[in-house]
Amino acid sequence: MEAKKIDHKDRKNMYLCKTCGIAVVSVDRDSGTTPFQIACLTSGCGGLASSFFYSVPPAYIQEANPVIEWYKPTDEEVSGLSKATQEHVKKGGLLMRRVRRDEEDRQPTEARPG
Ligand SMILES: [Zn+2]
Repeated sequence: MEAKKIDHKDRKNMYLCKTCGIAVVSVDRDSGTTPFQIACLTSGCGGLASSFFYSVPPAYIQEANPVIEWYKPTDEEVSGLSKATQEHVKKGGLLMRRVRRDEEDRQPTEARPG
């Protein structure tokens, strides 16, 4: 029997770009660390979007569809990455990718503490 570990899986966060004012919702698919700033996803913006450090009230983003997701790459994926990125992953860093719009939520989270 496996004990349930507390991790940050499926934890949502938000990144806000001060240049264009657009915020994107992210979700952590695996446990790991995520950067506090990412390149803005708005085409032509070129700004930096800053993390809310998981402090967004769940009511705001619980229903939102994440635009990006953070995931732990497989060993095979890691071998094809740059040295710097490999180091990042080795230290527990997650990688970012766009969430496909047509992808259905695999695990609807209804779990509530307590
Ligand atoms: Zn922007």
